[in-house]
Amino acid sequence: MLGGSYNRGVRKFYVQNFGCRATQADGAALESLLVAKGLNAIPSRAEADLVILNTCTVTAAADDDVRSTVRRVHRENPAAKILVTGCYAQRAPDELAAMAGVEWVVGNSHKTQIADIVTATEYHGNIHLSDIFEQHDFLSAPVEDSAGDRARPNLKIQDGCNNRCSFCIIPFVRGRSRSMPVGQVVEQVRQLSTRYREVVLSGINLGRWGREPGSTMRLVDLVRLLLEETSIDRLRLSSVEPMDFSNELLQLMADSTRIAKHVHAPLQSGSDTVLRRMHRKYRPRHYADRILRARQLMPDAAIGADVMVGFPGETEEEFEQSRSFIQNLPFTYLHVFTYSERPGTPAAEAGNAIPIPIRKQRNKVLRDLAAQKHLEFRRSMVGRKLSVVTLGDGNFALSSNYLKVELAEPQSANLLLDIQIEVVTENNLRQASLLTVLV
Ligand code: SF4
Repeated sequence: MLGGSYNRGVRKFYVQNFGCRATQADGAALESLLVAKGLNAIPSRAEADLVILNTCTVTAAADDDVRSTVRRVHRENPAAKILVTGCYAQRAPDELAAMAGVEWVVGNSHKTQIADIVTATEYHGNIHLSDIFEQHDFLSAPVEDSAGDRARPNLKIQDGCNNRCSFCIIPFVRGRSRSMPVGQVVEQVRQLSTRYREVVLSGINLGRWGREPGSTMRLVDLVRLLLEETSIDRLRLSSVEPMDFSNELLQLMADSTRIAKHVHAPLQSGSDTVLRRMHRKYRPRHYADRILRARQLMPDAAIGADVMVGFPGETEEEFEQSRSFIQNLPFTYLHVFTYSERPGTPAAEAGNAIPIPIRKQRNKVLRDLAAQKHLEFRRSMVGRKLSVVTLGDGNFALSSNYLKVELAEPQSANLLLDIQIEVVTENNLRQASLLTVLV
């Protein structure tokens, strides 16, 4: 289209991330790559001459959010060049390229090349994309402000997924499972431990860290190494598939005071037949075995799950099986998702869709159950001593077992404290007294 100085106008950029922790980690890495190329990251998209939308496509609502943001950016800052990247860009590039104001669409397959694409002196087309299953690069940088509180940085150490859950688009937009090299993980955690008390390890399928051919290290070995080689006070594992919670990993979590007492294992459904149709790799009894083992080893741990309602063909009976399975397990919180058709996935092609009002009603039933379980768990902590890390605004802290606590008086961020719990509040807990500040 244009040659010579085509992109010299791109100087100030703004990255907006959508979706999960993995996307945020990609966004942080992208910022570093662009800054290394001499571009300036600015905090306002209204003044940027390049706006990068780093997208999610996990649900139809996530797609809608991206499209309406493209329209808003173009309306508010028509001079800005918009670059759309991430999972939606990988899934439906033409859809995005056709939108007014979109200058480039860059799939996850080409994300590592974004700094080159936007600073190239010649125009090479507006869609940059190839087969994601050929992608072996690992893009990640610590996200130091993932919850807006500059505490508990998130470090993505694994990307992609080799599973094929029938509802899930992620493997098709993120590619094969791949891991951050062990030396890099140790170095990153070591650096973060100089500024933070807690680091959260995350991935698309975190339990598959280190499973590439030729590697003998597993997630449990990595965690043990991090405890030995770094001085980080608290490591937290984000979501790990249930069957990757080996006895060895659970035992290590139970034995170490430096690993958060927090088990998050995606369930999706408690119905055997629904799990089969989802192509999940376990049956309810296997899942229950892992959760009960975790509870036995860690009586006060947070135990959470992702659960999905309204999967195609989910009958009343199957939903009830799922509800009662969940009720009978010692969950302390749930993330409840409503099934959303993702084009190209087997579940979306199967037909048998559940009407939206029924999906919403089932979602409410499980959210109510989750609220009840969370309240019971919070009540069981009254009068107890909890180990917490203070969050950025100074008024709240997060416990090892994933409870948010209102502090009796403001503290600075990133302190590791032992506190006494006084009372349950509407959504959290409140501190009664400070027991110890650990330095
Ligand atoms: S384990 Fe299943 S749900 Fe999770 S990313 Fe892989 S395919 Fe998707």
